[in-house]
This record gives sequence, C-alpha cells and structure tokens, in this order.
Amino acid sequence: MALPPKDHPRYKSLLAREKLVEASDVVAKQGLIAHGRGEAFDYLLGEQTCLPALSAIKAAASALIESKNPVISVNGNVVALASREIARLSEISGAKVEVNLFHRTPERIAGLTKMMKKVGVNALGEDADDKIPGLSSERAKCCSDGIGSADVVLVPLEDGDRCEALVNMGKKVITIDLNPLSRTAQTAHITIVDELTRCLPLLSDFIKEKKGFDSFDNKQCLSDVLNYMAERISS
Ligand code: ATP
Ligand code: MG
Repeated sequence: MALPPKDHPRYKSLLAREKLVEASDVVAKQGLIAHGRGEAFDYLLGEQTCLPALSAIKAAASALIESKNPVISVNGNVVALASREIARLSEISGAKVEVNLFHRTPERIAGLTKMMKKVGVNALGEDADDKIPGLSSERAKCCSDGIGSADVVLVPLEDGDRCEALVNMGKKVITIDLNPLSRTAQTAHITIVDELTRCLPLLSDFIKEKKGFDSFDNKQCLSDVLNYMAERISS
C-alpha cells in the first residue's frame, strides 16, 4: 500500500482511501463512490463525533448489551477500513460477524471472510442458506445462524432498501452512516451519524464499561445532527 506522507494535513483521509484502493479486489467500485459521499458529510461534521452521535452510540451500546443474539453485518468498505475495530467489537459484545454484500459474488465473500480471519474472526457469509424477505435474489441472501436469527443487527454503511427489509423482518437495526438524510439513516432504529473508524472504538468502550443510554429517539437525534451541521455552516 502506498502510504500517504505522515505530515500531510489530511493523512487519515488519504490513508482510508489507500486502504480502499488496496482492497479493490473485494471492495465494489460502487463502494468507492459511497466512501466519497461519506467524506463530504464528514466535512460538515468537522470530522469529529458530535454530541447527538454520542447519544446514538450509547443507545447502540444498550441495544447490544441487551441483545440475546446480536450480529454485525459487514461489507467490503467496512472490512477494508475497520476489520480490527470490528474484531474488537465482536469480542466485547459477543456479536457474530456476517459478511453480507449488496454486490455479492462468491469471490468477494471469500476474500472478505479471509480478511476477517486475519484479525481472528470466523465470519459467517459463505454458506448463505437463508433469505431476507422483500429483496431480489442475490441481495436477499443471508445466513440462518447469522442475520436470519439475529434480534439486533448492526449494519454499518448499508443500502436503504436492505436496511428497510431488515426492519420489516422485526430486527432491531443499528446503522452507522455519515449521511443523516440517507434512507438507511432514516429507516434504522438507531443511527450513528459518525465516521465508521471513529465511532466503533467508542461503541466497544461503552459496552465494556456497561454504559448504555435508555431514552433515545432516532428522529430527534437525526434532527439534532442536521441542526449541528447547519449551525456549523452558518457560523
Ligand atoms: P440510501 O441509504 O438512501 O440507500 P446511499 O445510496 O447513499 O443511501 P449507500 O451508498 O448504499 O447509501 O451507503 C453508503 C452510506 O455510507 C452513505 O450514506 C455514506 O454517506 C456512508 N459512508 C460511507 N463511508 C462511511 C464511513 N467511513 N463512515 C460512515 N459512513 C460512511
Ligand atoms: Mg445508505
């Protein structure tokens, strides 16, 4: 991987791009576009975890602590950017990890499973034997031991249509999405509007310290995030 110069003011951002390019055999090209959209929204947040996001992280910690069968659904971008952070969260929360892709091919599933194995996680995904109702063929596939039987699903960087299908299945859905206006952000039960690699360690820490948050209203949270962005723009 071509490392960006350490003294570059946008080192972290350049490194994230390099990681995605490096993993280009398993990250769909569409994932690069999604990353760019995320970067644009992160500028509006000042590339920091805002207070409303922190309350969503605490609500997500509560949901994962209380869950009997939590699953973390990961795609190419998530594995390329945050495999270690996902491994730590899985260990602390006891959640299974399932590789689940919008642009599913057996090669990409196998490649991403291998990348999770390198950080000590035996991810589900290769033997998809179940379906998410309401979605067409390849997009519907999932594992009965994983998403199929989960009560709580954490799906970072998810497509809106699939997020809605998981909600319709009766799952409690937590997402991480820098765009508070996306269908995913609007449809999930708990939306963490924050950058993936920035919020995952916080989520793990809250679970470890058993610091949850009971009263949480996602609509209110999204509106607070939008107000925060608007105030930053107008000042
Ligand atoms: P919809 O939810 O309406 O389908 P979309 O088409 O924008 O929205 P996708 O491209 O499927 O959704 O999902 C990617 C989402 O993830 C985008 O909203 C993008 O802002 C967000 N995103 C991309 N990279 C990151 C990141 N590193 N951290 C957090 N969010 C990110
Ligand atoms: Mg989305």
